[in-house]
Amino acid sequence: MVDLATQYARLKPRIDEAIQSVLAGAQFVKGPQVKVFEENLANYMGVKHVISCANGTDALQIAFMALGLEPGDEVITPSHTYVATVEVIALLRLKPVFVEVYPDTYTIDVDAVRRAITSKTKAIVPVHLYGQCAYMEPLLKLASEYGLYVIEDNAQAIGATYQFTDGRQAKGGTIGHVGTTSFFPSKNLGCYGDGGALFTNDDTLAKTIRMIANHGQEVTYVHDLVGVNSRLDSLQAAILDVKLKELDDFAARRRAVADAYDRALANIPGVHIPHRASYSTHVFHQYTLRLEGIDRDAVKNELQKLGIPSMIYYPIPVHLQKAYRHYGFAEGSLPVTEKLSKSVISLPMHTEMQPEQITYITENFISIVSSLQNL
Ligand SMILES: *Cc1c(COP(=O)(O)O)cnc(C)c1O
Repeated sequence: MVDLATQYARLKPRIDEAIQSVLAGAQFVKGPQVKVFEENLANYMGVKHVISCANGTDALQIAFMALGLEPGDEVITPSHTYVATVEVIALLRLKPVFVEVYPDTYTIDVDAVRRAITSKTKAIVPVHLYGQCAYMEPLLKLASEYGLYVIEDNAQAIGATYQFTDGRQAKGGTIGHVGTTSFFPSKNLGCYGDGGALFTNDDTLAKTIRMIANHGQEVTYVHDLVGVNSRLDSLQAAILDVKLKELDDFAARRRAVADAYDRALANIPGVHIPHRASYSTHVFHQYTLRLEGIDRDAVKNELQKLGIPSMIYYPIPVHLQKAYRHYGFAEGSLPVTEKLSKSVISLPMHTEMQPEQITYITENFISIVSSLQNL
């Protein structure tokens, strides 16, 4: 699915130099590399504040804590997402309210959000899934109409640009009150371990976030808030700073793979290629197809036999997971989401893919799909 070894080999001199400089300086936690990376990332994102932390799940948790949400507050979230989005809501004793996603972009359905708002609703969590921003402009309007916070889970779409109708542009993750991301190795901007960050343009919120991520202290040993211990270490920051300079090139490489996949698969009956929204660029964290009338698991098995990996993101929607069923969203309550979990399949997608690999994958995929169709 990914090829981090080849990518490292290509960037090796610069990555190794960055690692060596951290080792020589020996400030493994809170080293100067962390601040440099935060500043460079803030510049890239066009946002006032970047606060790094230990992983993307922590980033979400810190965001909810910083906004002062309280037990019982309702948070509207898609169910078609990675579990981390919902996990932190549950951990903080907030109440996840699951809503549908659009059947073409697979991101949160704004009309469904509107219908889910109650007097207890405090926040909405759009997830920029697979590498493309959710439909933010109407969502922001709705949120401001009801005084709700917008927390963008941007773990999968760092670098994607949102296009507003008035011509203004903004990076996904910098549009709502706070945005979060993950630097997990396989993410578009991945480190060599765990890492995450929060984005905000709000000075007060940024200060609170920084305190919470550091044991609730601004001054050492003075704890004004209950916080957590969540840091990006200096080695990861140094590696990320090298890779940040490549991020747009990474996106271009991924897009080129997606374009090649699209050309090969656009007119295959029963296969729906990814829809590219007019309001967002797509950085193709995943290349996710939707199959119709074709046994998805059989396709996956046949691909596997030929050495072609594929993945299902995600096979069980969060609202139907055992840990989240008690929130009361029964089977059948989110038909679009449930149908997606049975019909999506993601093909290998990374920055190092060669034309021969793409051809091998698409030719075999097409023949598998057409043989299964004739059954
Ligand atoms: C990866 C991911 C996360 C969590 O990030 P970690 O760094 O693994 O904690 C959260 N949300 C989404 C949508 C993700 O893809």
